[in-house]
Formats: sequence, C-alpha cells, structure tokens
Amino acid sequence: MARDVRAWRDAGLTNINVSVDSLDARQFHAITGQDKFAEVMAGIDAAFDAGFEKVKVNSVLMRDLNSHSLSTFLDWIRTRPIQLRFIELMETGEGGDLFRRHHISGEVIRDQLLMQGWQLQPRGRSDGPAQVFRHTDYQGEVGLIMPYEKDFCASCNRLRVSAMGNLHLCLFGDGGVSLRDLLASDAQQGELQARIAHSLGQKKQTHFLHQGNTGITQNLSFIGG
Ligand code: SF4
Repeated sequence: MARDVRAWRDAGLTNINVSVDSLDARQFHAITGQDKFAEVMAGIDAAFDAGFEKVKVNSVLMRDLNSHSLSTFLDWIRTRPIQLRFIELMETGEGGDLFRRHHISGEVIRDQLLMQGWQLQPRGRSDGPAQVFRHTDYQGEVGLIMPYEKDFCASCNRLRVSAMGNLHLCLFGDGGVSLRDLLASDAQQGELQARIAHSLGQKKQTHFLHQGNTGITQNLSFIGG
C-alpha cells in the first residue's frame, strides 16, 4: 500500500478501508497470520501523504483480544483523521467456535465512549449502518457496527460486487445477481443500471443472523466486509 497508494489515488480512488484488528504488532501477527503490522501502518501514513483526507480503519471487536484496548486505539486517532470502525464479530457458517469464544457486544465500547465525552453524530450519508461518535479533542472518529442490535439494517445502503462480478444485496444474502455479462463494455451501461435497479427490489429488510442463517457467506473473507 505504501508503494502504490499514490498511483491508486491518481487513478481515481477516493476512499480507503484498511483492516487493523490490533495496534500491538505481535497480536496483529497472531490474529492475521501475517507479520505485517509495520507495513500496514506505513501504508496508512502514505495514504495521508498522497492526499487522502480520511482513512477508514476496520477493527473486529473480540473479547480477550482487543476489547480492552480502546484507550490505545483512541490515542492513535487523536491526531489522525481516521474513522476507526469497531465491528462486532458476526457468526458465519464456519465461525461458530470463534464467535462463542470472542463475541462481545459493541455496547461495551459505546458505554466507555459516552462516559469519556464522545457524542453520537446524526447519521451521515456514507455511514451506512454505523453509529459514528466524535469528540472535540480528537481528529479521528469512532464508528460502531453492531449487527445484532435491533433495526441495525434499517439504514443499510450497501451493495457489493464480488470479484466474480456478482451483485450481492446483503453481506449474508444468497448467490447474488450476475452482472458479469454486462461489465465488458461501456455501451452496456444502461442495461447494467436497469438490472441493478431491478435487483434492488429483492434486497431483504434485514439479515437473519439471529436465526443462525448467514446465507452463502461461510466466511467473511469470501465477500469482504
Ligand atoms: S446485514 Fe445485510 S442488510 Fe444488514 S446492514 Fe449488512 S448488508 Fe445491510
């Protein structure tokens, strides 16, 4: 990322999300299986140097791993315009054991933020289902993504296109709508828009995680966050 982020920006990229589950290099290695903490940090710094005004950082909140590290994360965003997004661990098809061992509600973080003077912001257009908190002493902000909370999906404006060219209407939906045949040429744009618009009617109002149904998503790395 440090090497290429400027070229990505020149090519038209406007927003970046980076995954950082721990600010402790050894724990980062243990969680990700990759000893690349320093590289990831250098990549984020390079994004700011290249002119990105904000970087979103996703951190999956895990009991006994990073749920006690809020103050370390907050120190990190005090002087950096990072939107740090704590995402509650979700139970996916293959992740039952992990979920039972490490799931913790984002309420723990929300309570601490409110106690420390952070304030919940009105929902912004690009926030999706995240609750965003700001504090006057910090350049960064905190987003909480709490999928098991009531009405979590009510403000969902997310659509995803997989590397296979399938449009996924929900992280936990079924096989998706193939767009592949309409992605080859700019002349197909009208047809592409029409198929996407038609598909939106099939977007469900909520996920079915509470019933243990994760659709085809056996593992979040399959579809991205
Ligand atoms: S679970 Fe599905 S509907 Fe709910 S917020 Fe995520 S993508 Fe949107």
